[in-house]
Amino acid sequence: MTGRIEPQTGTAFELNHGQTLRVIDIEGEQVADLTAFARGDTTEWLSSGRSIDYANTIYLTTGHTLYSNRSRAMFDIVADDVGRHDFLLTPCSPETFRIIYKHEGHHPSCFENLATNLARFGIAPDSIPTTFNIFMNVQVGSNGALSILPPLSKAGDAIELRAEMDLIVGLTACSAEMSNNYRFKPIAYEVA
Ligand SMILES: [Zn+2]
Repeated sequence: MTGRIEPQTGTAFELNHGQTLRVIDIEGEQVADLTAFARGDTTEWLSSGRSIDYANTIYLTTGHTLYSNRSRAMFDIVADDVGRHDFLLTPCSPETFRIIYKHEGHHPSCFENLATNLARFGIAPDSIPTTFNIFMNVQVGSNGALSILPPLSKAGDAIELRAEMDLIVGLTACSAEMSNNYRFKPIAYEVA
C-alpha cells in the first residue's frame, strides 16, 4: 500500500505486526506526526516517555524501539536517512496556534487531523498522546531552552519503522509554519 498525505492533512490506517511503514519527505523540510494504538485495546498507545526512558536519548533513530505506555515494543526503527526527529512535543493543535502564535480563527493542525481520522477507529481526541514527530528538528540548549529549526530532511529522505504488534496508526503532514520552514508540503508513505 502506498499513500500520499496532502499538505496540512492527515490519515489513519491499520498496520499488521511485521509490516514496515516507510515515511518519505517528498520535497524536503516537511514534518510528519506519527501516533499509534494497539489494535486490540486502544488504551495502549505510543509513549514518548517510555521510549525516551529506555533509549536513554531524546534523539531516536535506527536501532531504537518505540514503546507503548505498557512498555511493549510498538515499532522498531529499521532505517533512517535523517537521524533527527522529535518526541518531546505534542502534535500542533488549535491551542498551539492560539497560545503561542496568537492566531485567531481556524488553523489546520496535526491534532485536528489525527482526531478526525482516528475517530473511525473509536479513538477519542483526549486519547491522542505526544506524537513521534518525524523529521522535526528540535534543538535543546544547555539551559533547557528549545529551538525549532528547519528539518534536516532533504527531498526523498525517509524513515522505516517495523510494526512489532498489530496497530492503528495516525500520520500527518504537519501544519505548523515554523516546524516546516514556513512552507507546507505533502508526505508519502508505503506499507510493505
Ligand atoms: Zn503539526
